[in-house]
Amino acid sequence: MNLKLENKKAFISGSTSGIGFAIAKTFAQEGAEVILNGRKESTIEAAINKLKSEVPDAKVSGLTADFSSAESVEKLLNDIGQIDILINNVGIFASQQFADTTDEDWQRMFEVNVMSGVRLSRKVLPNMLEKNWGRIIFISSECAMLVPEDLIAYSATKAMIQAISRGLAQTTKGTAVTVNAVLPGSTLSQGAERFLKGAAEQQGITEKEVADNFFKDVRTTSLLQRFATTEEVANTVVYLSSPLAAATNGAAIRVDGGSVPGII
Ligand code: NAD
Repeated sequence: MNLKLENKKAFISGSTSGIGFAIAKTFAQEGAEVILNGRKESTIEAAINKLKSEVPDAKVSGLTADFSSAESVEKLLNDIGQIDILINNVGIFASQQFADTTDEDWQRMFEVNVMSGVRLSRKVLPNMLEKNWGRIIFISSECAMLVPEDLIAYSATKAMIQAISRGLAQTTKGTAVTVNAVLPGSTLSQGAERFLKGAAEQQGITEKEVADNFFKDVRTTSLLQRFATTEEVANTVVYLSSPLAAATNGAAIRVDGGSVPGII
């Protein structure tokens, strides 16, 4: 399938590793121009080199910004220029009991997970509407719907993202701009790999056993019963970004391995 992304330019927040990097790589494979983002010049440079080694003809550049700082984001917004596709991917989480989650924890998660997408969308959506083409995708999470007890703050930010995504989609009525949310389930990003390695060492079992136990004891509703790969999430995101997905707008698309129970 040709996704017709050759002349499109995409910015992906938080894309030097994990799901964001996999999205950038898939865009590059489809011939789109990509702008990577991370907090440090050196990390971005390393990610650009990695992408170029994996996709030799990749059109790739980078912009630094720390989404926990409004000032840093302001600079990014001045530098970002015209883009066709915005992927609001950056997101942080912490497994914490509700009673232990401080105001600062809530505010940091709100700033990075919610305000990143708000500020970027506010900047680029008017231009997309004016030229009558654009894609905005918010990377939410299965947690927006499952709300694990140790991830209440994170889940709340992801639920908020879905309201923002749906609301923005409604402002695109009658245009060729779409805004959608994607809800990944447990995905094998570098963070998840580190968690598996650490738990395996601590418990004296293999990483595979830790992963199997996670689905047996914690994410019991998963139908996939394994971590998704970052590429599996990226495939859905890149498809939704393509001109072929024009009829999907205001949707929340699950790539959760069936972990959220229900018929829709
Ligand atoms: P990750 O932890 O691997 O981080 C990805 C990127 O975010 C890195 O490039 C990192 O440098 C960047 N980043 C972190 N804080 C930043 C900040 N303040 N400013 C700028 N960049 C920053 O992430 P991931 O696991 O790939 O997750 C990506 C998105 O997918 C997040 O929104 C996350 O909530 C969501 N998600 C992940 C999973 C999962 O299991 N991995 C599941 C559901 C949803």
